[in-house]
Amino acid sequence: MSEPVLEVADLRASYGTVEALHGISLTVGEAEVVALVGPNGAGKTTLLRAICGDVRVRGSVVYRGMETAGKKPYAIARLGVGHVPEGRGTFTDLTVAENLQLACLGAGDRARGNRPTPDEAYEMFPILREFRQRPAGALSGGQQQMLAICRALLARPDLLLIDEPSAGLAPLVTKEVFDELERLLAERRISVVLSEQNLTRAFAIAHRGYVLSSGRVVLSGSVSELQQRDELLHAYLGAT
Ligand code: ATP
Repeated sequence: MSEPVLEVADLRASYGTVEALHGISLTVGEAEVVALVGPNGAGKTTLLRAICGDVRVRGSVVYRGMETAGKKPYAIARLGVGHVPEGRGTFTDLTVAENLQLACLGAGDRARGNRPTPDEAYEMFPILREFRQRPAGALSGGQQQMLAICRALLARPDLLLIDEPSAGLAPLVTKEVFDELERLLAERRISVVLSEQNLTRAFAIAHRGYVLSSGRVVLSGSVSELQQRDELLHAYLGAT
């Protein structure tokens, strides 16, 4: 088997004196989509933020053979780790075009002579071209989510961390966003960690999954294995 793209070992993270992650270990393979599922407060967001350097950690995060724990977020991003944060991280007062231009500027370091342009995002999701002069905040929730995903893809990440793309979206819109995401991923060889409370959607797109509860991995395996395990349900019920 080839080297994992990401190997997290015994990862701990705290907010003040309160530990939120109690020794998490996981791996992500080449072009693999890994779902992180679990109830509110399980630690999914914290784990993604820990991987991309937004929260301080103890333990080890090895990305493509390099230890990144303790590195600054911009340094980790430059290595090829993209992050679509919870709440999408778009600038709602700026236009769609301005959001994309900023993402292109931010991607400059990594693009090395092959600087992305907003046109690339318009090709990924054509409605963005139509709405390019609108403030991002005037887009629908699903369109804002796609804008956030396109922004992250402009930096051409090798590993993309996506935090709860279904948050605040109606079921039908969630389905549309996941269909688009699946299409974009199929066109690229990107490894993905996808945090999601919507099990059906997450498992439809992922190869493997980790179930988090109260800051710990309580179950992991292939999607088909997880779908047959009662503990998955208990992890949800136990924490609600
Ligand atoms: P959700 O789906 O609600 O976002 P989650 O699985 O992503 O949940 P986290 O947001 O990572 O979980 O939260 C894990 C724990 O850390 C929770 O107990 C939460 O209250 C706590 N926590 C998260 N962010 C902060 C913060 N900024 N300050 C203090 N505690 C926090």
